[in-house]
Amino acid sequence: MEEGRSDFDVIVIGGGIMGSSTAYQTSKRGHNTLLLERFDFLHHLGSSHGESRTLRSTYPEPYYSSLVSQSHLLWRLSESEAGYSVYTQTPHLDIGPADSSSLRAVLSSCLSNSLPHQVLDPDALHRKFSGRIGLPEGWIAVCTEMGGVIKPTKAVSMFLSLASARGAVLRDKTEVKGIRRDEKGGVIVCCDKGEEFRGRKCVITAGAWMRKLVESMVGVCLPIQPLETTVWYWRIEEGHEEGYSIEGGFPTFASYGEPYIYGTPSLEFPGMMKIAVHGGHPCYPDRRSWKPSSGLNSLKEWIRGRFRGNLQDTEPAFVQSCMYSMTPDEDFILDFLGGEFGEDVVLGGGFSGHGFKMAPVVGRILADLALTGTADGVELQHFRLARFNADPKGNIKEHEDQVGRSLGQQ
Ligand SMILES: Cc1cc2nc3c(=O)[nH]c(=O)nc-3n(C[C@H](O)[C@H](O)[C@H](O)COP(=O)(O)OP(=O)(O)OC[C@H]3O[C@@H](n4cnc5c(N)ncnc54)[C@H](O)[C@@H]3O)c2cc1C
Repeated sequence: MEEGRSDFDVIVIGGGIMGSSTAYQTSKRGHNTLLLERFDFLHHLGSSHGESRTLRSTYPEPYYSSLVSQSHLLWRLSESEAGYSVYTQTPHLDIGPADSSSLRAVLSSCLSNSLPHQVLDPDALHRKFSGRIGLPEGWIAVCTEMGGVIKPTKAVSMFLSLASARGAVLRDKTEVKGIRRDEKGGVIVCCDKGEEFRGRKCVITAGAWMRKLVESMVGVCLPIQPLETTVWYWRIEEGHEEGYSIEGGFPTFASYGEPYIYGTPSLEFPGMMKIAVHGGHPCYPDRRSWKPSSGLNSLKEWIRGRFRGNLQDTEPAFVQSCMYSMTPDEDFILDFLGGEFGEDVVLGGGFSGHGFKMAPVVGRILADLALTGTADGVELQHFRLARFNADPKGNIKEHEDQVGRSLGQQ
């Protein structure tokens, strides 16, 4: 860091995908930016590490599709600025019982957003993917073109590099302990080794630590529950590797119902596919169990049914651990902290296990909120904190909850 420099236009707290994308956006617009990260950059203790995240444009909630389209464009723009790619496009499949309220909501959101899609019955899906994935009777598949896989650690590294190239100061191994109002305006951010930095604006993107950090700093308890979740990789039977690879045209997928399952074609580890349950067990981010979540037996049964012996379903090839930060309605929090900090402190959190794909647009929104007080062209009502005043459960959803209903069983 530059000697003696402690005044910034924007201070971003948390160097995961959301913080690095925000720092890129603010520095790109010519604002002196400081990014503070508690651990080493690219560490594996939060939510943004690892080898793959799904991008899909289909959501049961109609308000996410346009954000995905904007993000898709911004991923491509950042890649071209960086000179390498972090995202590989594939088709995406949403499958489940034809009467699943979530899948029906996905379909109506495709229609209301004019998203090109195909609805396939088990025979049509069998033909389209040459029998590589099968559906039980009574199930349907919704097939869309904008799916794919993002490389998460590489993507964080890309935004860090782009931000640094635009003059952002990147500081890791620096834990933020508090913030206070500066009498000259803006905020003072206080760190663990006694250092203090002044920011005209501050953006907090602390992932699963969001609730703890904000509560300890200003006494506001955000409705964000950290969850420990498990990623399982499954070996593909010899001779079938090509068919389930990204090069072989296999799609990313989500299976609605109990449990909600998601997966990506083989890419990061040749000959293996990532297939996991969307859920986990509540945790304290600094005292994780690092134990696998429950649901492995139903996952094995699901794999047996869908892949009919083409994947080794007796035991996963290996396991990884990660954290979600869940809001009660699984919608993000993109808002001002308010109170004595008014619009000088912006919050980006509660990404509820589906935020990665949105990082470029979230970074843009958080930068807009910090720098201009509004986010042009984006309707933020579903992401405001005020939604929890009217109802602690937040936004009302007509379709069944995918993650929350499994919380109590972990
Ligand atoms: C297994 C798994 C699979 C997922 N799959 C998908 C998917 O397919 N598609 C998708 O879109 N999304 C997916 N997600 C969700 C996505 O990865 C997250 O929404 C996203 O990574 C959240 O990023 P973040 O920056 O908010 O949090 P993080 O990456 O955790 O970053 C927060 C950072 O803040 C730092 N920090 C915390 N406290 C302090 C402090 N006091 N001082 C300084 N720094 C601090 C932390 O160290 C951390 O680096 C998945 C998540 C997991 C875990």
